Amino acid sequence: MNILDGKALSETIKQEIAVQVAEIKAAGGKIPHLAAVLVGNDPASQSYVKSKVRSCEQVGFNSTLIRQDDSITEEALLAIIDDLNEDPYVDGFIVQLPLPKHIDEEKVTLRIDPKKDVDGFHPINFGRMAQGLACYLPATPYGILQMLERNGIETSGKHCVVVGRSNIVGTPMSILLSRKAKVGNCTVTLTHSRTRDLAAETQRADIIVAAIGIPGFISGDMVKEGVVIIDVGINRVEDASRKRGYRLVGDVDFESVAPKSSFITPVPGGVGPMTVTSLLLNTLKASKKEVYG
Ligand code: NDP
Repeated sequence: MNILDGKALSETIKQEIAVQVAEIKAAGGKIPHLAAVLVGNDPASQSYVKSKVRSCEQVGFNSTLIRQDDSITEEALLAIIDDLNEDPYVDGFIVQLPLPKHIDEEKVTLRIDPKKDVDGFHPINFGRMAQGLACYLPATPYGILQMLERNGIETSGKHCVVVGRSNIVGTPMSILLSRKAKVGNCTVTLTHSRTRDLAAETQRADIIVAAIGIPGFISGDMVKEGVVIIDVGINRVEDASRKRGYRLVGDVDFESVAPKSSFITPVPGGVGPMTVTSLLLNTLKASKKEVYG
């Protein structure tokens, strides 16, 4: 069993980005600039955004955090997005999800200029991804591809079972792994809550990507020997022994699955840090105008 250390890999990639930023600075170019919009006080969202801003500082990017009360109207939020779309100093921006119930997330996503959509959530970027065209890949699947590639994990011809079909993780992951690409060429089965006999599917998998949102859902008896496990889940479970009163666990029961796996991502320290790093990579691409010219 090998641990896929997302924390260490993300630090390596951040160092590579920092070198590029230093070169841009030395040449008198424009420093990449990521903006983040955070609405409300959801603790998980606050911690994600904080880590994104901190990572920007680490690599030498400029960053702007726009915080709004959860009483903000949809109209006012859309106006902020319009401003960011027009702002020549901002290369890319994200609106941290989830948003309060009175705001239509789809409307917000559609309002973001695809050229600045470094989260890769806009349907234009999603469609371009599906067709294998230049685009901003959604950050979590992008991070997983990096992790597979940089750890030399062969994907071609492998049977990959993706559990969960969200627009931001499961569905794009299934598309990307089935593409004719260096990290791709998998035979993919995309599963969800209506899948009959999920265990029969996961037991056949060479690679499992779990993005469900249920702590420890994939257990040892659901996987075969030698499987590669990518655990996307980030779930808070109560833990009185921790100062903050909870701990983070994945969608995979690490104890029973790890001994059977050839590679496995831990939670925390696996996919999570890679997601943040991919956002930086997309912002760098945006500042260099690599995707849309
Ligand atoms: P969603 O809640 O949007 O989707 C969950 C998916 O799991 C759905 O497709 C659902 O099926 C499926 N599902 C639910 N129950 C079952 C079941 N019993 N059997 C099979 N499938 C089931 O989740 P996200 O993709 O947004 O997130 C998934 C997890 O990943 C969460 O823990 C989240 O916090 C984490 N996450 C982590 C990130 C990271 O950077 N590491 C980034 C994004 C998310 P159906 O469609 O039928 O309802």
